[in-house]
Amino acid sequence: MSSFESLGVRAEILRALADLGFQKPTPVQERTIPYLLSTGGDLVALAQTGTGKTAAFGIPLLEHIEGDQPEVQALVLAPTRELCMQITRDFRHYAAHLPGIRIVPVYGGASIREQIRGIRQGAQVVVATPGRLIDLLEREALQLAQVQTVVLDEADEMLNMGFQEDIDHILAQVPADRRTWLFSATMGKDVRRIAQQYMREAAEMNVGGGNKAGEGISHQYTVVMARDRYPALKRFIDADPALFGIVFCRTKQDTQDLAEHLTRDGYQADAIHGDLSQQQRDRVMARYRARNLQVLVATDVAARGIDVSNVSHVIHYDLPGEVESYTHRSGRTGRAGKTGISLSIIGVRDVYKVRNLENRLHLHFSYVKVPEATEIIERQLLGFVEKLKDAPVDPAAIGPLVDAVSLDLQDLGREDLIQRIIALEFGQALKRYKDARDLNVDLASKDRKAKPKVPGAERNERAGHLASGQMRSMFINLGTKDGFDKGRMLGYLCGITGLEGRHFGRILLKDTYSFIDIDAALFDEVVGHFGRANYKGRRLRVDEGGTAVGDRPSRPAKKPFNKERRR
Ligand code: AMP
Repeated sequence: MSSFESLGVRAEILRALADLGFQKPTPVQERTIPYLLSTGGDLVALAQTGTGKTAAFGIPLLEHIEGDQPEVQALVLAPTRELCMQITRDFRHYAAHLPGIRIVPVYGGASIREQIRGIRQGAQVVVATPGRLIDLLEREALQLAQVQTVVLDEADEMLNMGFQEDIDHILAQVPADRRTWLFSATMGKDVRRIAQQYMREAAEMNVGGGNKAGEGISHQYTVVMARDRYPALKRFIDADPALFGIVFCRTKQDTQDLAEHLTRDGYQADAIHGDLSQQQRDRVMARYRARNLQVLVATDVAARGIDVSNVSHVIHYDLPGEVESYTHRSGRTGRAGKTGISLSIIGVRDVYKVRNLENRLHLHFSYVKVPEATEIIERQLLGFVEKLKDAPVDPAAIGPLVDAVSLDLQDLGREDLIQRIIALEFGQALKRYKDARDLNVDLASKDRKAKPKVPGAERNERAGHLASGQMRSMFINLGTKDGFDKGRMLGYLCGITGLEGRHFGRILLKDTYSFIDIDAALFDEVVGHFGRANYKGRRLRVDEGGTAVGDRPSRPAKKPFNKERRR
């Protein structure tokens, strides 16, 4: 196993790394540091946050800086203010014993005058968000003519956030013979374009997990009715007193609402999203970092660049819109060799989205149940007992107090005492969970959700059903007069049932009704979804349509499924 010394890192930085307690390089560092120190060439590295990538480019970058030259020699571009500050902090640690190296962060949302003053005092390394850097260039507050190293950190995030033009503009202004190092968690076509356009014979390294989320992360999902997502979330939090998590929602409003609900229900929670001022955001983050908050509720954009150690859970209250976002979200846990859980709480209709993530990211998602009331109380009780056993007791200080109460308690037996302690400590929780129902959707009867193990296997099984002709026909009182064609009908069915198009067979449209072939194994489930459904205020009727359309024309219904049909 290599040491930092054997990678060629110089003595002053070795001392700084020892101060930080870095004993050996991480795999990313092992691969990139010797390459970036020796060749000085370009690099495209697929690496996630949490793998030690900041030091992987930071150490060689600092080694290339001439401390006695005052000009800007290295430029690091990062998507967010938080990431800029984090990189600056880390670089200053690595450079602690390198005299004369100044590292200056510049980012939006803070006084540009202060930053200009900072740069004027001398900066060999500038760590910048692209937008603010352009502002500074336009004000001629910054000269990039002596830049020898450019790092694009979290390049995919920068492009996702719309910084493409800014990056083009900046890269056109730095000397052409610079070295360029690009780090990205994913490698989409936009990232490739940047690499092709601005880099020369770049070495490519797939380190630290590349396109998939980190090694130490367990990907889990639970399935509930959509309306039960909130109580389910609370149960997961209640069941794990050590949970320290980030919960993701899609919109600013949902993020705010969820945090407010949690706070009202007694949880230490707050939200970060784009509508907060920088000050408000900093305040929330400081509380979270100090663990005065147990749960941070965030939008994807607001969570970018957040670097908080030991996040135990990333919870997807809403699944992300983009596959890449799942990788970024879950990368907030399981960092620096630790383990973490990335849990998706999904409604029945979204199971296929988990399949999609499995297939696209080559990940395995384990199904977990929402903890039941007894389990939650038991876990909390065990946690309490552990705390009770470990409570530090100072006999000298407590002795007299014990004497004072033992007389009062002498008639209570041991069992009595234990019962009362539990009643006091868990009375509220017991009351809250007294009539708590099971929130889990019964997967046993819906085997399509209970068998997530091998992505694709389930599909083949379904395809088997279709191929073997095991279809049943469903009647529905919607037809061409309602504006449906086959495509719209299929989309409508998928929307109502949460199934995919492949689960449906032929569709026969009439003017006021239709017949649809459905995979026989899913027929009852599909019909169940229409139990109380309306279409534009009209109650829908579904029924068995007789023999499947694909076999021969339908005949009248045999068995009624809902009240309207019975009448
Ligand atoms: P990064 O991927 O750069 O965000 O780093 C993730 C975390 O790992 C940070 O807290 C670093 O301080 C820490 N770290 C980076 N390299 C090492 C190392 N070689 N040994 C121990 N910790 C490290």
